[in-house]
Amino acid sequence: MSGPLDGLSQWDDFVEQRYMPGKEQDQFRQYDEMTPAGVKEFYRLNHANQTREFVLRKKREYTGLNRAQMSTWEALDYLNTLVDDSDPDTDLSQIEHNLQTAEAIRRDGHPRWMQLTGLIHDLGKVLCLYGEPQWAVVGDTFPVGCAWSDKIVFHDYFAANPDGNVPLYQTRTGVYEEGCGLDKVDMSWGHDEYLYHVVKDYMPEPALYMIRYHSCYPIHREGAYSYLMNDDDREMFEWVRKFNPYDLYSKSDGKVSVAALRPYYEDLIREYLPEKLRF
Ligand code: FE
Ligand code: FE
Repeated sequence: MSGPLDGLSQWDDFVEQRYMPGKEQDQFRQYDEMTPAGVKEFYRLNHANQTREFVLRKKREYTGLNRAQMSTWEALDYLNTLVDDSDPDTDLSQIEHNLQTAEAIRRDGHPRWMQLTGLIHDLGKVLCLYGEPQWAVVGDTFPVGCAWSDKIVFHDYFAANPDGNVPLYQTRTGVYEEGCGLDKVDMSWGHDEYLYHVVKDYMPEPALYMIRYHSCYPIHREGAYSYLMNDDDREMFEWVRKFNPYDLYSKSDGKVSVAALRPYYEDLIREYLPEKLRF
């Protein structure tokens, strides 16, 4: 897995730290000194390389879904072959993170489709197994083709992004129109957008928003880019915000037994998803 992070989960851990409940706003702003060098380097690469041209190229490359056909569970198992270099004792496998998210949602009595969303939300990380660098798989996502909000973490690193030299991309709305709706907006490329394309014909709309925008911290946590959103986005982002704590804070929950939970989730998968998904 190429990149400066010890593993993909190092980014998740960084986000979890940033949004720790009860943390003061100014503490939040001081992440600079406290951030591990590998995480900073990861954001430096992400912000320098996620250009509009790059995003459009990756969309062409991947959203035709001609790479593989896998059942949902096969995809979870495949994703699980991605092993983080960080401490294996404290670190969750990919399948455990997905199951813990789902279980926390289930425990709180949320609908079955939302439980399933928890189970599959990070499946797009298989991009890493296709050889994509970490900075093109995880990281806070943001719109490309318009000015970068200063609410995006490590905003200074955008100085190295070639889109800074394209005047149209540096205006408030850029290539978009005021209130055009996020569906028309190209977001930085990563596991969120990819999985959205894999499941977009099968899951209910709130689930698709959770999947597509769960890493979009500038919008769902920081309130940026409201001028690109429409009323439907605003309504649906309530669901994205509802989902986020389960993604961020379920890691400390007790161990999950993959084998014991599998039958329940296989039923749930059958309820919404086809036998094979196209990736
Ligand atoms: Fe994710
Ligand atoms: Fe996640």
